[in-house]
Amino acid sequence: MLPGRITHMATMKLKPGVVTGTALQELFAYCKESKCALPAVNVIGSHTANSALQAAREAKAPIIIQLSQSGAQFYAGKFLDNSAQQASIAGSIAGALHVRTLAAVYGVPVVLHTDHCAAKLLPWVDGVLTAGEEYFAKNGEPLFSSHMLDLSEEPLEHNLEICRKYLTRMAKLKMTLEIELGVTGGEEDGVDNSGVDHSKLYTSPSDVLRAYDVLNPVGAFTVAASFGNTHGVYAPGNVKLKPSILDESQKYIEKERKTGPKPLDFVFHGGSGSTPEEITEAVSYGVIKMNIDTDTQWAFTQPIKKYMDDKSAYLQSQLGNPEGADKPNKKVIDPRAWMHQGEKGQAARLVQAFKDLGAFGKFEF
Ligand SMILES: [Zn+2]
Repeated sequence: MLPGRITHMATMKLKPGVVTGTALQELFAYCKESKCALPAVNVIGSHTANSALQAAREAKAPIIIQLSQSGAQFYAGKFLDNSAQQASIAGSIAGALHVRTLAAVYGVPVVLHTDHCAAKLLPWVDGVLTAGEEYFAKNGEPLFSSHMLDLSEEPLEHNLEICRKYLTRMAKLKMTLEIELGVTGGEEDGVDNSGVDHSKLYTSPSDVLRAYDVLNPVGAFTVAASFGNTHGVYAPGNVKLKPSILDESQKYIEKERKTGPKPLDFVFHGGSGSTPEEITEAVSYGVIKMNIDTDTQWAFTQPIKKYMDDKSAYLQSQLGNPEGADKPNKKVIDPRAWMHQGEKGQAARLVQAFKDLGAFGKFEF
């Protein structure tokens, strides 16, 4: 090996805590060069957040913890009025502060992110950004590492114009913006794209180039491109996954703008249900983040169902079970007993995701 040459054979060393600013760009660059990606898990409260932190600890790799608009609302509590996004804003801040407090205790690096934000939900990200600006003024770093805007329902130029505006604001906080080009199929968070025109499920390299030209001079961004990926898990249908679209987009920009190889950081939405081969191929084309939600929801819920089934005879009343009519069931009823089963299930599924994405054991902290 040549002296002075950066090699990425070595594992990347990171500090526990939230990764922001240039450290996040270095993390994504390392992922791309070493052909691995990080799982991004949607959390809805402290239990899912804590099991995500535990998964990062077991996998020895940084995890991306994200809140969707409705997940953040749930974090704050579904009891609250959310007509002006106030619950989603407060839930996002609470989730971020929860993760910031505990990441250091778990001893893991975390990327804090918010998920899909369509045009009608922009007041949510506006509120979270205002809190992020206040946090930056006090602490010299942003509250979140990155936000996503999903304006893929808008015409391309309108999508990019709004993204440019937000990235201008976020670049001052050294934040990264995730954008969406093309439409992710399936259904998530009440947005149903299962009937969308098939051509929209595949992003064109010329759209990606246009996004690069508009956003690259402004700040750091990642691209959720559509390559036949869908939210949710379905029986095999007629939408085919074509990761080669990502490769074509990278090569097109490299040629047209004379950049180095793989100039873009791609995000793979709808990772649930994908085969390890599909994931490996997408990662080799510059995917640095894969969203996983449906599979972790299943991994959380399934062990709880098993617990309820196994302990059914102990869950009919507070007193009385097969061991005696007056035996107390307190230990079985305690929500900690069954919730922890869900936490362990989700953590194990995320460790599997780290392995599928090639990130397991590629870091030190
Ligand atoms: Zn998504």
